[in-house]
Amino acid sequence: MPRPIRAVISQQAMSHNLSVIRQYLGNARQAPAAATGGMQPAPMGATHIWAVIKANAYGHGLETAIGGFAQADGLAMLDLQETVRAREAGWQGPLLMLEGFFETRDLPELQKNRVVSTIHHPEQIRMLQASTLAAPLDVFLKINTGMNRLGFAPQQFDRAHQDLLALQQQGKVGRIGFMTHFADADGAQGAVDAPAKVFHDTIGQCQGSISLCNSAAVLRYPQLAVSAADNWVRPGICLYGSSPFANTTGQEFGLRQTMTLQARLLSIQHVKQGQTVGYGSIYTAARDMRIGVVACGYADGYPRSAPSGTPAWVNGVATQLAGRVSMDMLTIDLDPIPDAAVGDWVTLWGNEGPHIDEVAAAAGTIAYELLCALAQRVPIHVQYSGESVEK
Ligand SMILES: *Cc1c(COP(=O)(O)O)cnc(C)c1O
Repeated sequence: MPRPIRAVISQQAMSHNLSVIRQYLGNARQAPAAATGGMQPAPMGATHIWAVIKANAYGHGLETAIGGFAQADGLAMLDLQETVRAREAGWQGPLLMLEGFFETRDLPELQKNRVVSTIHHPEQIRMLQASTLAAPLDVFLKINTGMNRLGFAPQQFDRAHQDLLALQQQGKVGRIGFMTHFADADGAQGAVDAPAKVFHDTIGQCQGSISLCNSAAVLRYPQLAVSAADNWVRPGICLYGSSPFANTTGQEFGLRQTMTLQARLLSIQHVKQGQTVGYGSIYTAARDMRIGVVACGYADGYPRSAPSGTPAWVNGVATQLAGRVSMDMLTIDLDPIPDAAVGDWVTLWGNEGPHIDEVAAAAGTIAYELLCALAQRVPIHVQYSGESVEK
């Protein structure tokens, strides 16, 4: 028997979240200027969604996510190998490599799989110039509008764009789009105004697709996602049901959690008042109590930083961690669940459990990190539409 732990992944929740994001975009397109902070009403055009599936689809499994996001307009990832797997899984639509290609020898595979490449550095342009390409490569030219991570500075833009146009003439580059990424879309209201202006001032009259918005920008500034004729948004975390904003959960945006992490009770200890629980003896029983030992630890991806008091649910009833998370186990207060027995499932996050955003907040991190940290050793159970998992 495998260890009694599982991550239940809901493809139905994935497709639901995708449709929630489409609704946001649709509403923004219809909103009058007053409702978009005084910006001009959106011109007619289309907004397309790159579903971001980097990092093994935020821990959910690439193939599972490709199924869940079957209605997306494109898939965005980081690794060439992920684009190969997407094609093998039958995905016919556009694929975007968010950091573009890394080496000249990646180019043939990129072309074979019809991958769109971000171009963020002059070195990538040099590789294209030196290469012999069989077919033109579609690209997004990335502009650094203040994040200072990837992208060309505004003053480098013209040169890069001219180089790409020359490569287009030579048949090495196909369509040229324009992209940026916000540092603070989840921060103070209006924090994207300056970078968005830099972006539009930089591209000026250049024609082409644009791509600006991650989850936070789609949810908070949907008008930025519907400006321009051909706008490609890049949501990730919201498609997995989590909020990109502090002190909120994905539920507040109508999003559903796509991953439920559960493990069974391995043991129950009867602890006397004044006794301690677990490593470091950091939890002291304030009364005689029952402690449940759960088959999930930091080697499964559960954060060791989660303190006593972090929520966990047993049989639909909320309780909390009591004591330090260890490698393969964690301990919870069973007093709120008098009928809990060895073998019962404990939900660490997800459906019929605490929201992953609450668990992340308690552990001083964000749901992104918890999802990506799900360990290889945790068996994944994919839940297709409507089906329930074994009790
Ligand atoms: C990861 C990533 C995204 C998605 O970010 P979320 O906050 O998960 O929506 C979008 N764009 C780029 C460039 C990224 O690296």
